[in-house]
Amino acid sequence: MSIIPTTQTAATVPELGGGVKFVHDYPVPQPGHNEVLAKVLYSGVCQSDLHTQAGIASDANGNPITKVKLPHVGGHEGVGRIVAIGPGCDDDIRLGMFVGIRFSSRICRRCEFCLAGKEQHCTKSTNHLHHEDGSFQEYIALDAGYLTILPNDIDPAVIGPVLCAGLTTYKAVKNANVKAADWVVVVGAGGGLGHLAVQYARAQGAIVIGIDGGAAKGDFIKEIGASEYIDFTTTPNLIEKVHELTSGGANAVIVTAASVKAFQQAADMLKVGGTLSCVGIPSEKGYLLTPISSIVIKGLHITGNLVGSLKECLEAVDLVRRGVVKPKITIRPFEDLPKIYDELEKGDVSGRMVLKIAKDDLALPSAIASFAKNAIPFKLAECGVFVWTEAPSVHSGAVYQFVEACTISSSSKLDNTLLYPASQTLQIALLAATSVLRNVSSSPVPIPNLNQIVNHSVHHGGNARYNEIPPESYRFGVLPNATVDGATNQPFKNENADFEQQTSPTELKL
Ligand SMILES: [Zn+2]
Ligand SMILES: [Zn+2]
Repeated sequence: MSIIPTTQTAATVPELGGGVKFVHDYPVPQPGHNEVLAKVLYSGVCQSDLHTQAGIASDANGNPITKVKLPHVGGHEGVGRIVAIGPGCDDDIRLGMFVGIRFSSRICRRCEFCLAGKEQHCTKSTNHLHHEDGSFQEYIALDAGYLTILPNDIDPAVIGPVLCAGLTTYKAVKNANVKAADWVVVVGAGGGLGHLAVQYARAQGAIVIGIDGGAAKGDFIKEIGASEYIDFTTTPNLIEKVHELTSGGANAVIVTAASVKAFQQAADMLKVGGTLSCVGIPSEKGYLLTPISSIVIKGLHITGNLVGSLKECLEAVDLVRRGVVKPKITIRPFEDLPKIYDELEKGDVSGRMVLKIAKDDLALPSAIASFAKNAIPFKLAECGVFVWTEAPSVHSGAVYQFVEACTISSSSKLDNTLLYPASQTLQIALLAATSVLRNVSSSPVPIPNLNQIVNHSVHHGGNARYNEIPPESYRFGVLPNATVDGATNQPFKNENADFEQQTSPTELKL
């Protein structure tokens, strides 16, 4: 693991409306009781970030939200890795796990909304927009009891926008009860929210009409699965056009454009029994202009939603992870945030802008990841394994990656990985890494497969770090008694103190 600094770079907003100020000595939080510290790798930039930092975000009554923690640090579409675990966290939370930094930060778990699985409406909740610093900083402390644990095979850059834009639109499609062959209109279909709404609606089998402006957006919207495109800059009557295409109106209209005008007439596009699903929150106070008679006579439904629950978030993530929904992202450097705000303001952003916040020390090179996944399906039964090297000038990440490669390929759990930093006096860059790999359901296969992985990694992995380590300098050993604890039937746990007492592990013959 890399050493955790005490200060970091953060995009702060000292006063709302005053613009972004990058600060390079912002304190790195210490993970408190039942908290983890995550290193933020990527973060999407949401319209709510833009509106909040400008002081024009709307509350539930349409009034501006002014009670915001200052300095404000935005960002609620972040993906990071756990780099430190505070006291009192559950055992299944491990270093290196991917975690999401979402809108909701803490919930009470006791109010009626928490109990109903709608915890985004928790009456005592806090969030990463108004109360706590968000993902526009390199390190963040997160509540381990309400942690968004993400699968370890995700692309962290792509998943960021799913945590707000993806979740919100997934939920909007669900709220609209979209079924196969339903006509669904997405207003603002080329934007950060809209392009995901199009795809989540397609995933339910809907026939989608995208509305947006300009020919380029039209091409993009059709590319991601919309059957029809209506260009509002060249179409005089959008409502007529929708009725013409659908022969009588749409089953659902999902409005993702953050402008009052886009919402006002949207319900007129619906057929009998149709649903208007409102997603974007315009900064100005606005009202729908749907005649009451039309709601009554046509039996219309009007729904809105604020992001979604953690469970729904993980569902939205899974559809992306499995390639059903493909967010369109553009990765930009962290310092581009003010520029991105300008672009969002002008509305000329297609897809989602994602900031690269900090370097991922633990990223597994894709060549090794696929090798580990496919080439050697080795399994380790309950046993403790040392992996270490005394090669000079080796980055500790190399050994961590190696151990992680083993973990991925064996589908087993990686417990208590302890990486020992260099001993300055001995000029040894890496003293040891130890881990306990376990997979209770499988039978053991010979350890030499580990050696094959090392050899392959070194010779074919294409990773400079691995190449720094000659294969013969990797060494393996097992901890005596490193197995299931016979008394408790619990997997062996390798505590730091035990390891240090264990000066001469039994070395395996490879
Ligand atoms: Zn958002
Ligand atoms: Zn609650």
